[in-house]
Amino acid sequence: MDNWVDIQKDPGHVARERAKAKELRQSEWWREQLARGVCHYCGRQVGAENLTMDHVIPVARGGKSVRSNVVPACEQCNKTKSFLTPAEIALAELEEQGALPEYDPDELMELFDGKDLP
Ligand SMILES: [Zn+2]
Repeated sequence: MDNWVDIQKDPGHVARERAKAKELRQSEWWREQLARGVCHYCGRQVGAENLTMDHVIPVARGGKSVRSNVVPACEQCNKTKSFLTPAEIALAELEEQGALPEYDPDELMELFDGKDLP
């Protein structure tokens, strides 16, 4: 049976790119990136041991394990970003800045604080 939406056109892609990422992680180039100790997204100095390899275009969204698509990211940014593409991150940042008026992040944070939830 065919799926009506074909999200993963190439089932080998993720496995292949994950293997390439593993190789890239062992490269001299990647060690240099880690040695700076700076997260690509938030710019914080978190130290090499707290940085992980992040795909700018996520592998699951068709991104590749090449130098132009991998950056060091702190754990927090890596989690926040998850499977978002750069366009989706830009949108999320606009929301954060209040540029999208119908959405108030502070109000949402309060809602999810747990205090007022049953
Ligand atoms: Zn970060």
